Amino acid sequence: MTLSLKIAHLYGDLMNTYGDIGNIIALKYYGKQIGVEVTSEIVSLEENFKAEDYDIAVFGGGQDFEQSVVAKDLTNKKNEITKFIENNGNMIAICGGYQMLGHYYIDADGNKLPGIGALDHHTEQQDNHRFIGNVLIKNEETGQEYKGFENHQGITFTGKDERPLGDIINGNGNNGTDNFEGAIYKNTYCTYFHGPVLARNGNLAKRILFSALKQKYPNVDFTESENNLEIYQY
Ligand code: GLN
Repeated sequence: MTLSLKIAHLYGDLMNTYGDIGNIIALKYYGKQIGVEVTSEIVSLEENFKAEDYDIAVFGGGQDFEQSVVAKDLTNKKNEITKFIENNGNMIAICGGYQMLGHYYIDADGNKLPGIGALDHHTEQQDNHRFIGNVLIKNEETGQEYKGFENHQGITFTGKDERPLGDIINGNGNNGTDNFEGAIYKNTYCTYFHGPVLARNGNLAKRILFSALKQKYPNVDFTESENNLEIYQY
């Protein structure tokens, strides 16, 4: 039996800042190492997203203009994306994608773009300022460290049932004040890390890959593949 996973690349033609597509390449690469076929397809404007069709969803970052276009289309996908997240779907959302999963995003010009409110965060505007640079964080639960590069004007405040992806060791993260970077809710991982985050942090890619596999194939023992997977961190 060939094992396979299918990725939805949400708005991959519009929201793909700084090589966020590398997250998909990383998942395919690690899948191949253990004989799992990972495929992906872009689900963009006016296309149907059906939660049960996908094992993983990737939602990249974007500029304010693209986010304003996506915000309008998201009203049609809101229910299915929320269902995907609530049903423990595995998702990685970067920067603009992270912002759009929350209640709203105030862009650099002060426009309020509605998010889908699947997660309880919201994103305010900085006063003519961006956070740009390298970030290092540590995840409380696993003790794992993650590295990334942030470039955002929005400042995000997490809400109910969201844990940070990590506590800041260096850099700004969500808002530069509460010491949090990113958010975890169920199997949805949000972060400001471009870079792309899964290529730089094999430990996180591994976590998402095996979570998706165990969900799809509950009767398969993945211990050996998990032990053998050779991951990269840099
Ligand atoms: N446009 C958003 C901001 O500036 C997101 C940027 C991004 O995805 N890099 O905050």
